[in-house]
Amino acid sequence: MKEPEIIVAGKDNGEDMVVRHQTSKGTEVYGMAIPNIHADAEWDLGPTWCYLILGEKTILIDTGRFGNVEVLESQLKTIGQSFSSIYAIIVSHCHEDHDGNLPDILPLMNAELWAHQVYPRMTSYYPDITDGAFRPDLPGSCRSCVMPEEFVQKNCNSYHKKRSQLSIDFLVNDEFESPIKDLSFASTPGHSPDSICIILENEVIFTGDTILPGITPHPSRTQSFEANRRILPERYQKENTTYGLMNYIKSLNKVANLSSRGFQATFTAHRLFYNGKFNLIHSTSDRANEIIQFHIDRCLDILEIISSEPKHLDEIVVKHFTPTQLAGVGSLMAQNELLAHIEIMEECGDVRQVGKDDELFQHTGSTQCLDLLRTYLP
Ligand SMILES: [Zn+2]
Repeated sequence: MKEPEIIVAGKDNGEDMVVRHQTSKGTEVYGMAIPNIHADAEWDLGPTWCYLILGEKTILIDTGRFGNVEVLESQLKTIGQSFSSIYAIIVSHCHEDHDGNLPDILPLMNAELWAHQVYPRMTSYYPDITDGAFRPDLPGSCRSCVMPEEFVQKNCNSYHKKRSQLSIDFLVNDEFESPIKDLSFASTPGHSPDSICIILENEVIFTGDTILPGITPHPSRTQSFEANRRILPERYQKENTTYGLMNYIKSLNKVANLSSRGFQATFTAHRLFYNGKFNLIHSTSDRANEIIQFHIDRCLDILEIISSEPKHLDEIVVKHFTPTQLAGVGSLMAQNELLAHIEIMEECGDVRQVGKDDELFQHTGSTQCLDLLRTYLP
């Protein structure tokens, strides 16, 4: 893809930047980088890139992490736009670095809210449906949250409460026809059950967190399906098409097959610009397949670690990741990441739990999961 034009320069990780791209039809697309939480941490995800499309209607994709209303407002001003000029906001998925500012800005605007069909279930509360949920008191998006209570109260509570009051004007799904021509959607569950990719004029794709350059998002856990099954719209309750690594791989495969002639531009929600340079994805399909391969390799490495004797999850984590990756909350995330792989291999019969310890795993000798994952590669 062509390098976007820099309208406002920002930090080395892209924070505060505003960039511009033009489609072959002449539609302008602006990328605005909204600060994220990890900026001072050892591992920095970088800002959340929100996108403004100045097409038939003015559309904003994502709003960035909460607490950044002024940043978003001033970036829009740089582009000669304001909250009131936006026709609709489309949310790529229910995570707070994407819809964080939404509850604060939507009441100030006339804009419609568009999100995936599952999104309203993620923003609502279902305290009476427990089904093994770790935190049934939190909204649908956070019923598996393992963060300490103090953290939840301090950071997310008020945003969640306000977000649960919002109503959605247009529910997105693959088969729902977009009221705006030149805009189409692909539901891509896996990182989050309500993840979507947005396609403009069949030539630009906004991938949210589903496809990122250089890094891959955390897959959700298959295990969360049972805990959340009854909060989902009925069509998603029968079998698990929303949670876990296998669904994420299927979504990557779907994106890889979306455009036979390829997209001219791929706009990701993170790392568009990082370490002082653009990280452009020149082929969406190649990047999607690269991520599938990455997860196959991760499965292979796990099998190798547990091939000769059963290993405890903690040991597998230490063997698979580097100490830097495991610093701070990294170790909790690493455990969850590996469990997302282990659970799909367990389902295929390649890994089994040993004894009564539910975190002691051994390779059974079969590699059916790998064979299955490889069918999603060209
Ligand atoms: Zn994100």
